[in-house]
Amino acid sequence: MTIDNVPLLDTQRAIVPLRNAFCKTFARVLDSGNFILGEEVTALEKACADYIGVAHTLGVSSGTDALLLALMALDIGPGDEVICPTYTFFATAGTVARTGATPVFVDVSPVTWNVDPQDVARKITDKTKVIMPVHLFGQCADLKPVMELAKDRGIHVIEDAAQAIGAKYHGQQAGTFGDFGCFSFFPSKNLGAMGDAGLVTTQDATLAERARIMRTHGGKPKYYHGVIGGNFRIDALQAALIGVKLPHLDDQTQGRQQNAAHYNERFLASDLAAMTPDEKEAEHWFHPTKGKPATRPPVLLPRVQEERHIFNQYTLRLRDKAMRDKVCQYLQEKNIGHAIYYPVPMHLQPCFKDLGYKVGDFPYAEAAAEETVAIPIFPELTAEEIDYVVDNVVLAVRHV
Ligand SMILES: *Cc1c(COP(=O)(O)O)cnc(C)c1O
Repeated sequence: MTIDNVPLLDTQRAIVPLRNAFCKTFARVLDSGNFILGEEVTALEKACADYIGVAHTLGVSSGTDALLLALMALDIGPGDEVICPTYTFFATAGTVARTGATPVFVDVSPVTWNVDPQDVARKITDKTKVIMPVHLFGQCADLKPVMELAKDRGIHVIEDAAQAIGAKYHGQQAGTFGDFGCFSFFPSKNLGAMGDAGLVTTQDATLAERARIMRTHGGKPKYYHGVIGGNFRIDALQAALIGVKLPHLDDQTQGRQQNAAHYNERFLASDLAAMTPDEKEAEHWFHPTKGKPATRPPVLLPRVQEERHIFNQYTLRLRDKAMRDKVCQYLQEKNIGHAIYYPVPMHLQPCFKDLGYKVGDFPYAEAAAEETVAIPIFPELTAEEIDYVVDNVVLAVRHV
């Protein structure tokens, strides 16, 4: 069978083999008559705590609400500053702004696209209450220097681990380092629900209890409100369905890693591609003034810097924006799913214009927004599909 299209993500391929288990689970929740929190949620919370290796977990309504709840539980609000990367999904900065606090943006590493700890250090002020690193595309941010900066100054850390369930940093999982870890079960994440859902993790029993109360409007006992919370509850049905998928997560992650290895092997055989170099070497190509992009191989492959990378996305870097846009156009014509994560960094978003940032403030993030494209990486991709993608990327690059 010749291949003439490859989707960016085909959720059905993972769902079909588990269809019976899902149907049974639907029936169980239906017959229980209990649709919010309850036993199903407690069971998922325990399973996730065991999987992640963290003391406390709370099922919540989405990854976005996980971040908002974590910020609220740390009492973040007007007058406070929260440091986060400018190159991320909107929810990271959006939730900060919704609390009334000010997002303070930092640039990212040109190698991993995760927060640059040196820039974090430069942006710390008396008002800094939280540092919020994002584990972008499934690879942990460089947490050691971030945790040290935070600890020395009594600053909290919230890990935006929405894309990083099961990712590891120095042998320990994402979501176990900060005061809070925040995960998303959005269907395109590695552990996807069949709707919106998320998870908050923490090692701190007091914070866990506070977040638990705030998950249901801050009422304890019910209808007596010592603090203001919200409705951040997870559905029993979503919790139960995620529980069916969780035992398969490690196999799925391995599938993604094998696909990444296959991509690397095929791309490197083409003489157009190289691995993204390490931080020291990267300067040579990516530095905003000293870098020489024209001497770069046209295609750079994602470097695995922190074990383990769970490849929520496999993101290529092209030599410049013109080439990236040409490649996207070609992939479109060949029915190959692809996406630009993310075309506009947070500091250039219209809704944050009052913060006073301008083009050129974060050169590495701006370059990433112009030069990267994510290609299909979901676990059930076939070798033929991967070959089709590689062949067409290579053709596109040769034609530029
Ligand atoms: C997906 C995502 C979120 C938000 O999760 P939702 O479940 O969609 O609300 C937050 N941060 C990052 C980095 C994400 O990728």
